[in-house]
Amino acid sequence: MIFDSSIKLFDRAKRLLPGGVSSPVRAISPYPFYTDRAEGPYLWDADGNRFIDYCLAYGPMILGHRHPAIMKAVSDQLRKGWLYGTPSELEVRLAERVTGLYPGMEMLRFVSTGTEATMAALRVARGATGRNRIIKIEGGFHGAHDSALIKAGSGATTLGIPDSLGVPVDTAKNTLQVPYNDLAALEKVLKRFPGEIACLIMEPVLGNIGPVLPLEGYLQAVRDLTHEHDVLLIFDEVITGFRLSLGGAQKYYGVTPDLTTLGKIIGGGFPIGIFGGKRSLMEQVAPSGGIYQAGTFNGSPVSLAAGMATLDVLEKEKVLERLNAVGDSMREALQEMVEDLKLGYSVVGIASMFKIFFGPEPHNYTEALKCDKSGYLAFFRRMLASGVFLTPSQYETDFISCAHSEEVIQATLEAFRSCLKS
Ligand SMILES: *Cc1c(COP(=O)(O)O)cnc(C)c1O
Repeated sequence: MIFDSSIKLFDRAKRLLPGGVSSPVRAISPYPFYTDRAEGPYLWDADGNRFIDYCLAYGPMILGHRHPAIMKAVSDQLRKGWLYGTPSELEVRLAERVTGLYPGMEMLRFVSTGTEATMAALRVARGATGRNRIIKIEGGFHGAHDSALIKAGSGATTLGIPDSLGVPVDTAKNTLQVPYNDLAALEKVLKRFPGEIACLIMEPVLGNIGPVLPLEGYLQAVRDLTHEHDVLLIFDEVITGFRLSLGGAQKYYGVTPDLTTLGKIIGGGFPIGIFGGKRSLMEQVAPSGGIYQAGTFNGSPVSLAAGMATLDVLEKEKVLERLNAVGDSMREALQEMVEDLKLGYSVVGIASMFKIFFGPEPHNYTEALKCDKSGYLAFFRRMLASGVFLTPSQYETDFISCAHSEEVIQATLEAFRSCLKS
């Protein structure tokens, strides 16, 4: 495969954009490919190479690229204008649908990104409880803002340290971290800071180091523990929302959080975030309450129209079931391959999420870090050269879209077979 045009573009970009990219995950070593266009399950780069896309923009493109229903909804909306600075009927209709699907959301607000959604949800938790400390899960990702960009300290009960320059130590010390799937560690932290912790924020299924799945009963036990200690529970469903089920992980596992954040899929590929939860909490958000949140692009009509159209498609009979069944059969086929290899690799995933870990199945961040990530990177490169674009890091989830036909999946499995062997 020839990447001349991408290499040239990257050389120009490096002088203008930090690291040559607009977001760090895109800085594929030694150079990223530059996408020229996309259709269905495919991306074409600036050199005309075609890739089957399992990155899918890191989650939003569950219907594949350029889905006709989204194109129509967006172009219909464009004819009516794309930004009003006033309320529009769309936000009422989409809010009715989303609150109808998510047991944990009685009221919500539309924002522009998942980052804003989690930032606001944390503010609601802090504002409503009058407490500063929060707990997050080690390796959990909630967007690139100060309270969430915190490295785990050493050991479950130590205070967080900034994971980025520019994050104040004073902010970091309010973010406590516990390992995923570890109830004892959570209980220890809850007991150590009684009356000081506003909330626990977590991805119900860790999507940003894996996927890493909850052990049987873990999420319910987390719900029980947070109740017992009077600490709010936030499910960050920016990845799992509209994916594990229409009602996200909370519907799938039957565990209802106090606050929920959504994003990615529900914008149909356009920028969106949603935070919402119990009425008693959300009524405290401005202008009805004193917890401030605002945004020029909140409830952007194009994003909402694309989100509505996405929901229309996903709500059609068996669309998610069929997609999830493709996920099941793909993971099964991959599982057979790694077993044949006898290298101790594992295949992990749920619904339309999957990953080959170059190591045993991890149950938390520390275990995930033990995988052979340079081995994975070399494998990623071989797959790319075979025309399959997986997520470039061992610690990102691969996604399947509704546009990935049986034929496309079979071609992918062929590439896996030969690239895993070499
Ligand atoms: C992607 C992601 C975010 C951030 O969303 P953006 O739209 O990129 O700001 C937050 N939480 C989770 C779980 C995510 O995967």
